[in-house]
Amino acid sequence: MSVELPEAQILAEQMNKEIRGKQIKSYRLRDYERLQKIGFLNKDLKSFDQLLNGKIELVKSRGNVILVKLDNGTNLLLAPEYGGIVLYHMSEDTVPKNHHLRVNFTDNTSLTVRLTGMGCIYALKDDELEQNYLYRRDFSDIISPVDDKEFTFERFSKLLANNNKVLKSVLVGKNAVVVGLSNSSYQDIIYRAGLHPKRKASELSEEEKLALYNATKLVLEERIRGGGKDQFIDLYGKQGGYTPAMGSNMKQHACKVCGTPIEKLSIGGGDTYFCPKCQK
Ligand SMILES: [Zn+2]
Repeated sequence: MSVELPEAQILAEQMNKEIRGKQIKSYRLRDYERLQKIGFLNKDLKSFDQLLNGKIELVKSRGNVILVKLDNGTNLLLAPEYGGIVLYHMSEDTVPKNHHLRVNFTDNTSLTVRLTGMGCIYALKDDELEQNYLYRRDFSDIISPVDDKEFTFERFSKLLANNNKVLKSVLVGKNAVVVGLSNSSYQDIIYRAGLHPKRKASELSEEEKLALYNATKLVLEERIRGGGKDQFIDLYGKQGGYTPAMGSNMKQHACKVCGTPIEKLSIGGGDTYFCPKCQK
């Protein structure tokens, strides 16, 4: 149910289609105390009052973060990255009992947000955005691998050449050269690129760098086209259809390409599943 880059992009696109131009009439927060305590929600709930009467100007995503921009200088920042559901409702019938935030529009449609893991729901003024850690992390200068203008092979290749760390640290986490890749995408990508998890970026040949670049694009494109990862629920309640080619779902299975049993390595905080034969 995690919402990573591909899923955040799917939600942002669907939200743009459904709620852009709509005006916020009211909101309701429920069961928020725990979220607030751990910093997943504004300390001062009155911040959400700023959203009232605002019209949705645009919804955009970068990395794992979704930004709902209003025409009154405020924003709703959503990042259900370790689990969450954002749903759009045409009527009362589909509104789930369990949600943390409900936003009602003047045309009687609504949006609900529920976090089931780490993430955030924040109401922020334009000038407060930079103070939010997740906004700063993902709306950054780091290249977005789904932006064709930013993510060119030339740029990616240079970043790899200058990095002597293992692929995990190069692709995922706070020192990654691209924004928004998770441990799940990383395992999927290096498997498809045929690269062993112990390989270091700066040691890759030109051909291997190209394979990594193409695999990154392919995994993200397929995951977006497939409606998100298999546990993900989109804005309309539809489940995603993308199953990673490699990852924890392949535990105790054989490689689909060569039949070799899948192995596991602990690398850079977290497990990496891989095929010892296909990945060199
Ligand atoms: Zn294999």
